[in-house]
Amino acid sequence: MASWTDEVQGRLGFGCMRLPGGGGEGGYGEMRRMVDTFLGAGFNYFDTARPYHGGKSETALRECLVKRHPRESFFLTDKLTHGTFRDPQSLREVFQSELEACGVGYFDMLLAHAVNAAHYDLYTRCGVFDVVPEFLADGRARHFGISFHDSPDVLERILGEHPEIEAVQIQFNYADFANGAVQSLGCYEVCERHGVPCLVMEPVKGGSLVNLPAAAQAVIDALPNPEGLSNAGLALRFAASYPNNKVVLSGMSDLSQMEDNIRSMADPAPLPQEFIDGLMKVHDVFRELGMVECTACHYCTDGCPRQIMIPEMLGALNTKRVFGGWNPGWYYSNSLVGNGHGRAGDCIKCGKCERECPQKLPIRELLEAVSEEFD
Ligand code: SF4
Ligand code: SF4
Repeated sequence: MASWTDEVQGRLGFGCMRLPGGGGEGGYGEMRRMVDTFLGAGFNYFDTARPYHGGKSETALRECLVKRHPRESFFLTDKLTHGTFRDPQSLREVFQSELEACGVGYFDMLLAHAVNAAHYDLYTRCGVFDVVPEFLADGRARHFGISFHDSPDVLERILGEHPEIEAVQIQFNYADFANGAVQSLGCYEVCERHGVPCLVMEPVKGGSLVNLPAAAQAVIDALPNPEGLSNAGLALRFAASYPNNKVVLSGMSDLSQMEDNIRSMADPAPLPQEFIDGLMKVHDVFRELGMVECTACHYCTDGCPRQIMIPEMLGALNTKRVFGGWNPGWYYSNSLVGNGHGRAGDCIKCGKCERECPQKLPIRELLEAVSEEFD
């Protein structure tokens, strides 16, 4: 079977989750300029999902990309998102409605969205792994993969059980190398071992690595930067320095961001190791800013009577407090609570988790902080 990577041009992907003008018609002029600039620069990968921009992303792509460019000139990925279907039949209906919203007869790539251990079970119960082969067989989807938010051992299990998965979208950036709840490198290595190419999401950590805290910026400024890459460009090139990261998605929301991204990724040569080592020192700064040093070992979660997703919540707290990220609240509400998993505020303070934590973290206290931020 031909690999989807042969159909992708360049290694920069246009992530359509933060579109100009809020994704509405008011932003279509800028969006059209961005689409044309992106294709004109030799890239062709577009990524969308039903929930992006309150459901406006797919129609914005239809108006600005699909109606204006030949179908074979772009590679389009859409996703099956938990909560939009409940069984095989509603899944079929949602998938067809996504094709119609985008105005296409097929998706080049279809991803099961935001897979973690809980969603994996949900998707399995709803029939995702049984129904998607129908779409692949009738040509309405050409390739299938997952976007993933959990630990390497969960990914190992999923790829072992589903060798048909052709791509895994992982969160990968130099800040999350130090974020135990994300474990960028661990997930990357699982994919590499299984021979599954990666798509990178959050290379700039939702924009958090563009405007860095001053102390972190000072570390970056001390590194040699002969290409004069911007902070965003450095973050993209960091992700692209790992060869199994075939496409690095960037959620570009105006033309100037796109031009900077294109400049950085026109020739995505790996960053020198010295530079990569220097970026890792930024971790020390993040720690000083109060990053919670959870390693996502999950030892704490088994005995929790409220099934609270402790490490993932601590990761979201880091994203919010250290990086000022744009999406941890959405991630918290949509991926970390529900389906039997309690909110941070549901903690009954039994202390079982703290007895298991090898890092001796004050989990109860930290969950109070999580609750203050997100509940
Ligand atoms: S203290 Fe809270 S988070 Fe920890 S095990 Fe008990 S209920 Fe769960
Ligand atoms: S046991 Fe501690 S370090 Fe491990 S996941 Fe839980 S909070 Fe994080």
